[in-house]
Amino acid sequence: MRSYSLIAPAKINLYLEILGDRADGYHELVMVLQSIDLADQIDLRSISTDTIRLHCDHPQVPVDKTNLAYRAAELMAELFPQALAQYGGVEITLHKRIPVAAGLAGGSTDAAAVLVGIDLLWNLGLTHSELEELGAKLGSDVPFCLAGATAIATGRGEQLSPLPDLDHIYVVLAKYRSLAVSTPWAYQTYRQQFGSSYVSDTVSLESRSARVHSGPLVNAIARKDRAKIGQLLHNDLEKVVLPAYPQVLQLREAFQSTGAATMMSGSGPTVFALVESQVQAEQIKEQVKTIMNHPDLDLWVARFCNTGIQVASSVK
Ligand code: ATP
Repeated sequence: MRSYSLIAPAKINLYLEILGDRADGYHELVMVLQSIDLADQIDLRSISTDTIRLHCDHPQVPVDKTNLAYRAAELMAELFPQALAQYGGVEITLHKRIPVAAGLAGGSTDAAAVLVGIDLLWNLGLTHSELEELGAKLGSDVPFCLAGATAIATGRGEQLSPLPDLDHIYVVLAKYRSLAVSTPWAYQTYRQQFGSSYVSDTVSLESRSARVHSGPLVNAIARKDRAKIGQLLHNDLEKVVLPAYPQVLQLREAFQSTGAATMMSGSGPTVFALVESQVQAEQIKEQVKTIMNHPDLDLWVARFCNTGIQVASSVK
């Protein structure tokens, strides 16, 4: 039986700015996204029945149709019924390493891996932009997760422009195991508290970009100026998540007290810090662990990576 094993990296947000509401109900965003080598492993195997089976080793992750990886397989089965009939269904096993509901695009990267894996299993030969288009139907972060690396994302996050690769930057991440922040809650609360001027599709690109402040960070990335990148980290959602979740605020302050550049990723509650070396990363991890002294706090050291979904092994 044919099978593929894929590596699906998490992402962090170096920048997240909310420009306003869109006619389709989403928010108009500007984000700078970065892949990190904290990754799930996704195994896909052809099976003789024309069904989708999903397994996962993480108790908090549903294995029904609410799982984004399942929905990715379902989308492929709907779009390519002849391939499903020819090659059979798919058994998917998710080995979760990325913390769940953490603002690290765990579900999105799994879905991206399923799109890539089924394209390979069924010999579909889809182009990258075709995969991106399918990904955008599943979720705003899925297109980014396909190619990963460093990119600026606009629209609802699905319009991507690559940025120069950033090598050898280490990340310390921390998250309370039992704490989850709902992404819809974070955006709704932002809208209630700060308003959100309507951005119509007819607003010119020039006037839209005049409101965007990501330029200095993009320049710092182009110059690979790590100190400046650290100073220019930004996330509008901190304005609503930090006041509502004192534990996340404390964690953010603990990271800040180490002197490292720090920010919350996406809608949180993961907080991260950027550092120059693995030694420094391990030191900051221990410092934050000691300051917080909480049994429910998980910490990781990871590194920026310049890849999205990768094939680790295959049996053809
Ligand atoms: P994002 O950064 O894209 O907002 P996230 O990292 O905050 O995503 P996920 O880990 O994707 O959040 O999980 C959000 C919710 O989606 C979880 O509560 C979980 O039950 C559900 N979920 C669905 N599919 C998956 C999956 N493959 N992996 C993890 N969670 C999933």
